[in-house]
Amino acid sequence: MNVAQEIVDEYEAVIGLEVHAQLLTKSKAFSSDKNEYGSLPNSNTNPISLGHPGTLPVLNEKSAEYAVKLGLACKADIREHNEFARKNYFYADLPKGYQITQDTTPICTGGIISIKTDAGGIKDVGLTRIHIEEDSGKSNHDLSPFDTMIDLNRAGVPLLEIVSEPDMRTAEEAYAYLTEVRKLVRYLEICDGNMEEGSLRCDANVSVRKRGAEEFGTRVEVKNLNSIRNVKRAIEFEIIRHIDIIEKGGEILKSTLTFNAATGETSIMRTKEEADDYRYFPEPDLQPLLIKQEYIDGIAATMPPLPNELFAKYTEECGLSEYDAGVLTDDKTFALYFEELLKLKSNPKSAANWMMGEVKGYINDKAIDVADFPIEPTRLAELIDMVDSGRLGQSLAAQQLFPLLVNHPESTATELAESHNLVQVGDESELQSWIKASIDKFPDKVEEYRGGKKGILGLFMGEVMRLSGGKADPKKTNQLIREALEE
Ligand code: ADP
Ligand code: MG
Repeated sequence: MNVAQEIVDEYEAVIGLEVHAQLLTKSKAFSSDKNEYGSLPNSNTNPISLGHPGTLPVLNEKSAEYAVKLGLACKADIREHNEFARKNYFYADLPKGYQITQDTTPICTGGIISIKTDAGGIKDVGLTRIHIEEDSGKSNHDLSPFDTMIDLNRAGVPLLEIVSEPDMRTAEEAYAYLTEVRKLVRYLEICDGNMEEGSLRCDANVSVRKRGAEEFGTRVEVKNLNSIRNVKRAIEFEIIRHIDIIEKGGEILKSTLTFNAATGETSIMRTKEEADDYRYFPEPDLQPLLIKQEYIDGIAATMPPLPNELFAKYTEECGLSEYDAGVLTDDKTFALYFEELLKLKSNPKSAANWMMGEVKGYINDKAIDVADFPIEPTRLAELIDMVDSGRLGQSLAAQQLFPLLVNHPESTATELAESHNLVQVGDESELQSWIKASIDKFPDKVEEYRGGKKGILGLFMGEVMRLSGGKADPKKTNQLIREALEE
């Protein structure tokens, strides 16, 4: 497919995403079976998960708690009277013949996810609903050449389905949205956000329309995308495919597609005529779930800091760039370490530089998480303060004291700086002796300086730094050399 760019530019895409997030509960949504990824196949499968006659589901309260957490984080409305519904269909990995979900009473409605756009602004993507449901089992088509292998460990795992409004207009916006959703569920610790393992799955709804048109075009739905990049690729492919069909006078069929990551192309699984009728009806085995305001208030009181709140604080109050704030808030443990430095009154800009420089460099190098970073925030805050107050030179701090602290996390920055003789020298008589030595060493350069070659000052600075082992206070030294040369 090849459509000229000027034709593509006449169109605008409309995108809405449906995201399924597997919840990090210990047991399943309606039974005491373990909710655990990677267990021996079909080992977490008691009669309730399998829907044997006579068994009764019981709601895992954590699923509701996590839904409320996400709802609060997205500023959604949380429903008081919740009912569960049966969604009926036949499939080999659904032994019950139905899935328990929420149909007409989703636990959350409305709310927003804020994304950062390429233009540098913030855009609010609306949410239609968030509801609780249970996962199906997993059909593995690639473990045996002739058979499909069914693993029912996943059957009954709690999910939140997060449905967005058709508010996104580019594949990049969809990418940014999904990145935000993943960051948010990780901050809330309700889902590990691991798309490769299927903990977070995405269906993308895509349509195109002529720019300026009000009505939406016919949408298609690309199912089960397993990485954020593939969501973007699938949408990009669909946009061009739609435009190509429309330009050739064809019509878009409302259909469901799959994406082939190897070829970067989609293919149609089924069209509207074959659409399922799920015959939803109220789940007779579960009581309605009532969510009282005091329950919501209790959860609100335990909410962790949210990434967009921290981002706003860093850019607006701390004066950091959007780029820096983005890097700092990308990962929760990293952001919380930075928060500790702020609490310890570190200068925000210096602390941000240390986090994004030495700390990030170290944890990337060792492939560890900030949680395993050996230096306590109090120790690092002290080091940062020593540099900011001029007691320690920046390069000595980064190249010598920081590695010392990593290896001796039980010592303080001051102790190590003193025992390794790194403390900056600001004492004038000591500085003067190094300055005198450097001037005596290069008498001809002194003449050049006096003849107008002011840049030569750097040579004397370098010599003093060498003589002092990097410890001379650069500001004072600069001043004193200048005075000595201009005598
Ligand atoms: P279904 O149950 O058929 O998947 P939903 O009402 O749950 O339908 O909507 C699915 C998604 O489709 C939502 O995210 C919505 O924003 C999106 N959507 C609806 N209309 C369009 C459209 N014309 N183009 C793109 N996305 C759309
Ligand atoms: Mg759908």
